[in-house]
Amino acid sequence: MAIDRLTGEHSIAFIRSEQLFDLARSHSLWYMAFGIACCAIEGLMSASGPRFDFDRMGVFFRASPRQADVMIVAGTVNLKMAETVRMLYDQMPEPKWVVAMGACANTGGPFREYPNVVLGVDKIVPVDVYIPGCPPRPESVQYAFIELQKKIRNRTGERLAARRDRT
Ligand code: SF4
Repeated sequence: MAIDRLTGEHSIAFIRSEQLFDLARSHSLWYMAFGIACCAIEGLMSASGPRFDFDRMGVFFRASPRQADVMIVAGTVNLKMAETVRMLYDQMPEPKWVVAMGACANTGGPFREYPNVVLGVDKIVPVDVYIPGCPPRPESVQYAFIELQKKIRNRTGERLAARRDRT
């Protein structure tokens, strides 16, 4: 029905299977229910609530890393927690993405002077999108997912360009 509207009735649309998979993945991002500090309550839980309604974007939380596509690191990561964050990331299946939410996850935030605080979660896991703020608004979390969706959809083009460069 939607394709008909784009291309006209009785028409054929060609799409690469990998492009289709990337499109499907970008609209079905399940994130791990995982919050370390105040950011998880202030921004993340509000984004999932009825007012902001994350579900309409295909973004749901899952209770297990084995069923999650996205890890949102929402809060201050200290050295004791760093090993657990990495372990949870390793338990997620590929392809997977990480969103660093708030000043603490990005750089250590207001606690960066303390010796047990990790100065950015990108020292432990690869981060795809950073959300600034202390705490970020729920709208910022949703905007981060819109950017992540774009990044996932662009992967097909990047893969094709890499293949062209190799030949
Ligand atoms: S960035 Fe601010 S709101 Fe978020 S965890 Fe750190 S102190 Fe809390």
